[in-house]
Amino acid sequence: MPDISANQRVEELHQQITHYNHQYYVLDQPTVPDAEYDRLMRELIALEKQYPQLKTIDSPSQKVGGEALKAFTQVTHQLPMLSLDNVFSQDEWQAFIKRVNDRLEASINIDDVAFCAEPKLDGLAVSLRYEKGVLVQAATRGDGNTGENITENVRTIKSIPLKLQGAIYPSILEVRGEVFMPKASFDALNERAIKKGEKAFANPRNAAAGSLRQLDSKITAQRNLAFYAYGLGFVGEQAIDVEVANDHPWLAGSHYQRLCQLKALGLPMCPEVRLLKNSTDCLEFYQNILAKRDSLSYEIDGTVLKVDSIALQKQLGFVARAPRWAMAYKFPAQEELTQVEAVEFQVGRTGAITPVARLTPVFVGGVTVSNATLHNQDEIERLGLKVKDIVIIRRAGDVIPQIVSVVLEKRPDNAVVVEFPQDCPVCHSPVAKAEGEAVLRCTAGLFCEAQRKEAIKHFSSRKAHDIDGLGDKLVEQLVDEKLITTPADLFILTEIQISTMERMGKKSALNLIKSLEVAKVTTLAKFIYGLGIREVGEATANNLANYFLTLENIQAADIEQLQEVDDVGEIVAQNIINFFKEEHNLAVVSKLSEIMSWPEIAQKSAEQQPLKELTYVITGTLSQMGRSDAKAALQALGAKVSGSVSAKTDYLVAGEKAGSKLTKAQDLGVKVLSEDDLIALLAEHNR
Ligand code: NAD
Repeated sequence: MPDISANQRVEELHQQITHYNHQYYVLDQPTVPDAEYDRLMRELIALEKQYPQLKTIDSPSQKVGGEALKAFTQVTHQLPMLSLDNVFSQDEWQAFIKRVNDRLEASINIDDVAFCAEPKLDGLAVSLRYEKGVLVQAATRGDGNTGENITENVRTIKSIPLKLQGAIYPSILEVRGEVFMPKASFDALNERAIKKGEKAFANPRNAAAGSLRQLDSKITAQRNLAFYAYGLGFVGEQAIDVEVANDHPWLAGSHYQRLCQLKALGLPMCPEVRLLKNSTDCLEFYQNILAKRDSLSYEIDGTVLKVDSIALQKQLGFVARAPRWAMAYKFPAQEELTQVEAVEFQVGRTGAITPVARLTPVFVGGVTVSNATLHNQDEIERLGLKVKDIVIIRRAGDVIPQIVSVVLEKRPDNAVVVEFPQDCPVCHSPVAKAEGEAVLRCTAGLFCEAQRKEAIKHFSSRKAHDIDGLGDKLVEQLVDEKLITTPADLFILTEIQISTMERMGKKSALNLIKSLEVAKVTTLAKFIYGLGIREVGEATANNLANYFLTLENIQAADIEQLQEVDDVGEIVAQNIINFFKEEHNLAVVSKLSEIMSWPEIAQKSAEQQPLKELTYVITGTLSQMGRSDAKAALQALGAKVSGSVSAKTDYLVAGEKAGSKLTKAQDLGVKVLSEDDLIALLAEHNR
């Protein structure tokens, strides 16, 4: 007998899951991450297994999706559209294979059972009905039996054929597949929404669902949705019996072959789909797709592994909400729930005071995350964040962890408003916010210890003077011990001073002195970059050096002259002027120029800068030359090298594993060069 608490918990879970289903399936606005939802569902399934009497037919564990929106006409699916069961680990996967094995006839050896392996696309399921080769109806999955009629909207999706190719197909053909929003379109859509002050979509899945379930198909048409087919619904001649529909003579006996048949009719099939000889190969497929995930141009959240033989699928059959012959093997979550324990403030190199959320450590996207930047006051306001709030944290690929949203429903009573500091948390000097800026800054410049540390770290960083052996911790100690206050002081440090620092011996002190010697000879571009002028990155520093040729020229330039340089607008020009106006900056620059040198840049003639008017972007892995060498080589020929693809980009150099930048370039019609093309181009101009 289940005890009262089990009864009660099942009741609570029903309510909670039903509530989350409504937010997700009906409103397209989930408030908790999928990982949290999946945990609740698993808890419910476990309780129902332990106490079968608690498993009711209206349990969320027995249902597919959510209700169809009444604003659309309803479509009854001739064959139901099911969901998928899911596993998260190899053990669970093996348990699934065992269940399959137990259900198949004894004569079948599980090691000979082939699987069709597919990425689990993160969009929404639709059913397309073709009659006599013409698309007559498109519907969402809805609750599995009744979906929404979204035919007009689906007609706007360019990759979905309105008419099938070729002459041989069943007179009625229902194609099932996923409508999704490619990552580049999702980013662009959200960028536009934020600019207009509208609400951004939580993820590409919700953006796809929201875009497809529009009452005005013109809006859907603007959203750049895509489609991959992954199965069949009803197939037959008019008035054919549903029972025999899937035995239509046109159909292959293999799921994979059926997808190929659909492809031949002009329906898009995901290029990653593979036919695998057995369940062991599925594990390798899972690992391969996981490794590829970030470079794919669309979002996926796992793999779907399906017994390939249709005859075996029939033997295995279905349970209430999912087939027994397919399994979603999901990837570890990229979004999780955690609590903001405190908000602290860090002072950066340029005095910017950045709020940082200290989080209850949480495992997400493959690492344990305990901090997340909150950027500035506007971001905190946009999120509506309070200290102690429960938040969704996202970590995808190598991108730094981000707080996506606050779960208002879970706000604790002790949540408090984030208070911004009235003075610098490090040096206690006044703070100020420049007009039109969201960032609060410490006004003390290099007198502020935090800014000193960051300025010295920046000066010695890889892209500036690359001072080997001078790590962040050592810089902090040297500043704390008052041995250095500016980058120029680094060069007068003695071996004895360095070797008394923590974890520094005689040998490492000597090595550091040697690296500092090497760093004395540099280039003008690196010298400018190393000064850490606000918003003067590597590319701008390069452009300034190429244009003005000497430090004196840059210091003497007025705001108009500075703006003649590529990449330099009014704000950056003003930052440069402000930097060289400060007495303490001038003192540091003058000391550094006595210590350091940069061989004169020979005046380059126009012929020596043949790529002057062109903008390049480099992406992916270059195997024959490093990305920074490629960038320097292009810049030496006068090209501008930018970090992001836009309509202004002339060429994208795409190395291996190029991802969303390549897709964006293709979408924008930007010319794409391979690494070999780049090498040939450089060779041609450097002859
Ligand atoms: P699902 O998304 O886990 O799996 C079934 C769906 O996968 C299919 O309907 C289809 O749309 C899709 N799919 C993608 N690629 C496929 C392929 N190659 N072959 C077959 N199907 C493929 O199931 P579901 O019922 O749509 O949703 C359940 C999941 O949705 C939960 O596990 C949870 O992650 C999420 N969810 C989250 C919330 C929330 O509040 N965060 C609420 C409800 C559901």
